[in-house]
Amino acid sequence: MNINMILNGESVSGLGETFSVLNPANEQIIAEIPSTTVEQVNQTIAAAEEAFKTWKNVDDDTINSAFSKIANDIRLAKDEIAQLITLEQGKPLGLAQFEVEGGANWIEYIASLEVPVETIQDPGGKIIKVYNRPLGVVASITPWNWPFLIAIWHLFPALKTKNTVVNKPSEYTPLSTIKLVEIINRHLPKGVCSIVLGKGAVGQTLSEHTDVAKVTFTGSTRTGQSILSHSVNTLKSVVLELGGNDVGIVLDDVDVEEVAPKIFGSAFLNMGQTCAALKRLYVHENVYDALTQKLTEIADSQAVGNGTDVTTTFGPVQNKMQYNKVKAMIDDAVQNGGKIITQAKQLPEKGYFIAPTLVTNLKEGISLVDDEQFGPALPIIKFRDIQDVIKKANNTSFGLGGSVWSKDIEKAQEIANQLETGTVWINSHSDLSPAAEFGGWKLSGLGYSFGLSGLLLYTHKQAVHITQ
Ligand code: NAD
Repeated sequence: MNINMILNGESVSGLGETFSVLNPANEQIIAEIPSTTVEQVNQTIAAAEEAFKTWKNVDDDTINSAFSKIANDIRLAKDEIAQLITLEQGKPLGLAQFEVEGGANWIEYIASLEVPVETIQDPGGKIIKVYNRPLGVVASITPWNWPFLIAIWHLFPALKTKNTVVNKPSEYTPLSTIKLVEIINRHLPKGVCSIVLGKGAVGQTLSEHTDVAKVTFTGSTRTGQSILSHSVNTLKSVVLELGGNDVGIVLDDVDVEEVAPKIFGSAFLNMGQTCAALKRLYVHENVYDALTQKLTEIADSQAVGNGTDVTTTFGPVQNKMQYNKVKAMIDDAVQNGGKIITQAKQLPEKGYFIAPTLVTNLKEGISLVDDEQFGPALPIIKFRDIQDVIKKANNTSFGLGGSVWSKDIEKAQEIANQLETGTVWINSHSDLSPAAEFGGWKLSGLGYSFGLSGLLLYTHKQAVHITQ
């Protein structure tokens, strides 16, 4: 496979410094990739601008039929893409296949949406038609946790609304996104969808460019803030999907056997490296012992290893920086009285492995509770008073997601109504839908993705006043 950037439909080698992509399961180099230079970023944006002149007038059927072909090609290449994802990202192959299949389904859902035109009858007699027009060139900057799926979440709404788009994947996980953009280029005109490669500086060049109309970004709050601050001069539109510290609140009427696997699955989804994973768990004292015991059993039964091994259920953390960060948070929790209730495991010598770790005996004020771990460690805290927990749940600068677990849906809904987060789940967590708006409150983001409102953020309104 080519590991080049794609500029105006052509596979082109970068002319900048080379960076390495590592397999997180064994730290071996799997690719050395030359970065895109500033001049090449400029050329890519110029090609996207040129392509926009035609693409903005393309008819909807052409777009939808191309999306359908792209989804089919993705399914045909499912095993190859899943292998690439596991190699560069670390997740077990089954989860990588879920990421690919989920991506193909997502594309088909976006194809099924219609960009509306609203007709208003003005009281004065004239007709006003409100159109949702494309913006121009969209820059998409993606992270390393779900590299293939998040690229789909960015690229397809932009293309559906007749923008052209330039993606920069994370320098840690560019391979599956290059494959995606290659497939897209089989079915769309040259220049409509391109990819540039490199570290943060390439992302910065792209996002600051005066000819970029919008930046869609998923990643850390710090980088999101930097992108927003650089958008001021050009007043470009920015959508930011950032970090979180999602709370899960378990009431005392749950069936522990039923909820434990679901709670474990949503806290440790993708080894905990999921923006909307459950990241701090509050459990009512009446079910605390039973639930912590069941969660411990599930955690201890995980087969931790290389994701390409079919027996593996739990892969490595994606990169060394994140591995060190999660390790340091666990150590800090223990130094502050935290108790690890999961078994220490024999782990492979090489690679960034951390077994799923449950920590009890903690309270607010400790980093593992207050900050985003984005990795395989979950703090579990006992509670008695629900109003106190709601206050603690909201006492954070993040506001991405939260969940309430209870058989009493009405009571759960009352608690959900009090959480200051963009999404609240009742009896689940982190399962996203292409049909529902998803976005963070407070420092977790700006704008939304998904749903019709998410789609229309790739457009601007044009009101045409018609006087007969
Ligand atoms: P990151 O911010 O370090 O990197 C994300 C992307 O931004 C990468 O492609 C990187 O090269 C690029 N980048 C870095 N500096 C840049 C700059 N100055 N200008 C432009 N681009 C730049 O984040 P990460 O470590 O890849 O991802 C982890 C974080 O992402 C976590 O905090 C997680 O919660 C968050 N995340 C959020 C969501 C969501 O939808 N809310 C989804 C996934 C991840």
